Amino acid sequence: MFDLYLLKMSDYLSQQTPFYLYDTTLLHRTLARASECAGRHGYRIHYAMKANHNPALTRIISSYDMGADCVSGNEVAEAIRQGFAASEVVYAGVGKSDQEIRQALDSNILCLNCESLEELQLTAEIAQAMNKVAPVAVRVNPGVKANTHKYITTGMEENKFGVHLALVRQALDYASESPWLRLMGLHFHIGSQITSLEPYEKLCHRVNELWQSMDMDSRGATLLNLGGGLGVDYEDPETNAIAPFDRYFDLFAANLRVPSHLKIRFELGRSIVAQCGKLITRVLYTKKGINRNFAITDAGMTELMRPALYQSRHLITSLTSNGPQQTYDVVGPICESSDVFAKDVMLPETKRGDMLAIHTSGAYAESMTLNYNMRNRPGVVVLKR
Ligand SMILES: *Cc1c(COP(=O)(O)O)cnc(C)c1O
Repeated sequence: MFDLYLLKMSDYLSQQTPFYLYDTTLLHRTLARASECAGRHGYRIHYAMKANHNPALTRIISSYDMGADCVSGNEVAEAIRQGFAASEVVYAGVGKSDQEIRQALDSNILCLNCESLEELQLTAEIAQAMNKVAPVAVRVNPGVKANTHKYITTGMEENKFGVHLALVRQALDYASESPWLRLMGLHFHIGSQITSLEPYEKLCHRVNELWQSMDMDSRGATLLNLGGGLGVDYEDPETNAIAPFDRYFDLFAANLRVPSHLKIRFELGRSIVAQCGKLITRVLYTKKGINRNFAITDAGMTELMRPALYQSRHLITSLTSNGPQQTYDVVGPICESSDVFAKDVMLPETKRGDMLAIHTSGAYAESMTLNYNMRNRPGVVVLKR
């Protein structure tokens, strides 16, 4: 991996491909907007490290007075290394190892979002052995449909995440009664790439009900973490470069009925970084199939797994050709039939050597890179205008 700080388009056209191109100006604009819209209601954002943990980005994000949302011990350590205050780090995950729990307690993070009674019990055991009290929130699986791809839905009964509604009281009672746990509050995260606000409205109603029916106030809880998932525009990223943070946070403000002293937190990943990154790739070959033209790129699912994993579609544009439009299947070099970026896309006539930009690749692209086929690590170019 190499970092470059370049100014002109022509400078990076000569770079070895594939590489991620990050636009820090857009990142700053996005962060300013997100902070402003959350701040109006006294909400705070924890950046979800798993969306992209490139230090060139996380260093900037941590400078915006945000917390971090982590899903592994290594992410917890990295968040702190990149400038997030440990006291503003939360840690979720259905399968935290003993070592990861110990490390999180050792780092004095804000809260572990626990996903089962067994995890609460283990956390209490580890805390006792360390002679510490562990701050915990119970992650609730609220049974709210997120209307997104099934692989990025997390808040339904059949998903592995969170404590099922019928078992929440038992988990809360355990957390309230254990001398080695401090119950901070409730945690929710219903899914990712959610583009309609309706699921969030349902979530608010669930949260209102639960905060009351579970006697959260008398348990001394003050933290309400509503997760992330705000979607971005993959079809028209230039027009909608910044996610609708205003409508998102305003919807919560309009629908939440919880005590005003609560600390309300959100965990946004994709909507912070997705539009700030593009994957730049060169066309290695074009070839004709039966009724199709393939453009075979030097980037593949190893650099951007989303299309193969979630059948997602990214806008692809040409950086070097303005010939007549043709239809292509843009495919990677990896030995998997799912290694396809997009079928039947219109591109200017493309030949070997042309460069393509795969847009909206700032989130869940670099952080998901695979070594499969013994691929080289892709490059990184950080654009500071
Ligand atoms: C992945 C994740 C997020 C971030 O989701 P986005 O869709 O990127 O906003 C937030 N919270 C938890 C617990 C997660 O696992």
